[in-house]
Amino acid sequence: GARAPRSSCSRDSSGSPSLRNPRYRVVLLGDPGVGKTSLVNLFAGVQERDLLDQHGGAAYERRLTVDGEETTLLVLDTWEPEQRGEESQRRSHCLQVGNAYIIVYSVTDRDSFESASELRIQLRRARQAEDIPIILVGNKTDLVRCREVSEEEGQACAAVFDCKFIETSAALQHNVAELFEGVVRQIRLRQGGKKS
Ligand code: GDP
Repeated sequence: GARAPRSSCSRDSSGSPSLRNPRYRVVLLGDPGVGKTSLVNLFAGVQERDLLDQHGGAAYERRLTVDGEETTLLVLDTWEPEQRGEESQRRSHCLQVGNAYIIVYSVTDRDSFESASELRIQLRRARQAEDIPIILVGNKTDLVRCREVSEEEGQACAAVFDCKFIETSAALQHNVAELFEGVVRQIRLRQGGKKS
């Protein structure tokens, strides 16, 4: 197909953020209904919802200060479910462009937890040689009585897949700021490691 024009969303602009206010692309993955849009709305504020990425998906940009240093996160909420086993362009685009990934499942939906593992595998396949930060997120912890996946299972899964883990509730706004701060810290850790 035609080559995508170089833009702020192209992969090759990702490696050289300005030193004073670096900008990182974070991609949300996960089954429909697990709370991706709810989480990113809390992060960005609803009024900033109008940004669009080059594929027409929702993108949200916000500056945040973590450990005294400012960073800009561009969060892409463009993931779509697989259709009849076909790999869509948007899906493979998503797997290529992130500087970090947030894989979300709902603690009330075991299928979405299985999907999260599958996504982790797809991501590893798509970005084989790269050490990309990945955060596994169990959302909807407020729905205590509907829980199907325990916190221990989530932790164990994250350990197997070598990623960070956090449980959140978008409804109660619990751990949402911590999630995005954690993403920034993970990105910085990787960069520090490369320099030394
Ligand atoms: P997405 O398809 O992954 O983007 O999921 P949405 O953000 O659209 O959320 C799907 C539904 O789950 C919506 O009705 C949300 O209000 C609800 N939801 C999202 N997060 C939570 C949560 O933490 N707790 C509860 N109780 N509902 C949630």
